[in-house]
Amino acid sequence: MVGRKSDMSDIIVIGGGAAGMMAAIKAAEMGCNVTLLEKNEICGKKILITGKGRCNLTNTKPWSEFSTHIHPSANFLKPAFFNFNNSATMEFFNSIGLPTTVEQGDRVFPRSMRAADVPLVLVARMQSLGVDLKCSSQVLNISYSDDLFHCVCGRRDISRGERIEVVKYSAPVLIIATGGLSYPGTGSTGDGYEFARSLGHTINETFPSLTALMPRVYDTDLVGIELRNVGLSLFIDLDLIKIEDGELTFTPNGIEGALGFRLSRRAVKALIKGQRVELVLDLKPALSLEKLRARIARDLAQMGVTSDNVGRNRFRALLRGLMPAALVAPFQHHHKELTISNLPEKLKEWRFEIKSYTGYERAVVTAGGIPQKELIAKTMASRKQPNLYFAGEIIDIDGDTGGYNLQVAFSTGALAGESAAQQILKLKSS
Ligand SMILES: Cc1cc2nc3c(=O)[nH]c(=O)nc-3n(C[C@H](O)[C@H](O)[C@H](O)COP(=O)(O)OP(=O)(O)OC[C@H]3O[C@@H](n4cnc5c(N)ncnc54)[C@H](O)[C@@H]3O)c2cc1C
Repeated sequence: MVGRKSDMSDIIVIGGGAAGMMAAIKAAEMGCNVTLLEKNEICGKKILITGKGRCNLTNTKPWSEFSTHIHPSANFLKPAFFNFNNSATMEFFNSIGLPTTVEQGDRVFPRSMRAADVPLVLVARMQSLGVDLKCSSQVLNISYSDDLFHCVCGRRDISRGERIEVVKYSAPVLIIATGGLSYPGTGSTGDGYEFARSLGHTINETFPSLTALMPRVYDTDLVGIELRNVGLSLFIDLDLIKIEDGELTFTPNGIEGALGFRLSRRAVKALIKGQRVELVLDLKPALSLEKLRARIARDLAQMGVTSDNVGRNRFRALLRGLMPAALVAPFQHHHKELTISNLPEKLKEWRFEIKSYTGYERAVVTAGGIPQKELIAKTMASRKQPNLYFAGEIIDIDGDTGGYNLQVAFSTGALAGESAAQQILKLKSS
């Protein structure tokens, strides 16, 4: 059976992720009557899986460095960041009962190391501010008439046995914070793009970022190996694009981990365009070719052999001294013509041609979305539709791994919430 109801508030927020919850909190703190519509049965389902279950909330780097991790352009984020920056995020979570701690790489986590604590405190804060939280409420379409946004919602009513009610929520101001397309199981299925289109926006092409890159030739013996302190270079159509140092992981999906992810944005874009993409792994980034040659000569001398009489077993022992034991077999398998003389080059230049990438089902973020130029950076307001605001991953803005994406969600969410509340005060006083 389907029931029909309608409801009215000052501001509707669609999406109970990091951005939507922050927007609702900031608007409610300014005295507005806020309704938050979330299609899942709980808010913050994606937050639960962030930071490998620990939630990397933000990154303490100063703006000059922070901004280099934001794409496609950090300028758009600047007003939102300076309104609610990484320190503000830490103070905010401390103030609502979630102390934070800073780890290697300036990454900030809840001291409890439990991602689940993040939605817990955000929901508690919303409840204490009187936000009308409507979970299991999927917005199906949005219209605008008589100076009001009308959100038609399919609402699952668990207490009454899963029946669907159709409820219409109306408000003079609307914030869309429905996220992107990554990990659709968390509720991010791109619904907001259609809502935005219906309200006059265009959508910049979306693509998965921070995702695994699959080599054309991929030895399954590599799967499960984690490498630290290695270098990775990205070549597109044979041009060197970027070199990064750090850690990477070989998984059944290909090359990932912090290092692979950092290069994946450019790589995926190039693959979509049909360009040739290669990753070159440097197993010894701290040593020049000369120094590596000298190191190998020293190792051979210590083993009491020369490059001419090294033999198979000694060669393998030499390799074990130069890389993790599990990597030796796939390294030898990949480099069929391996000799002592070409070993230094192969150690510094293990070339993988990339044939494909993992899609939204396992990509950490969605790049693309609402064009930055269609929004006012100082307020997050739409340039296409009065009284409409956007926040979070739905906007064409994304960051590297390291806490940047959640800070984007918190900064844009806080600014959208505050701007929407100011707009309500203006509308009420006119
Ligand atoms: C595995 C993984 C690990 C990550 N780890 C980190 C990390 O440690 N640090 C970091 O900074 N970033 C991390 N990220 C990225 C970060 O989580 C996201 O960028 C951020 O959560 C986006 O927040 P959002 O509120 O914009 O969108 P979302 O979190 O996607 O929230 C959107 C919400 O809108 C709801 N919604 C969608 N459509 C409708 C509709 N029609 N009606 C009602 N509700 C709707 C969805 O159910 C969802 O709850 C990670 C991402 C993944 C996938």
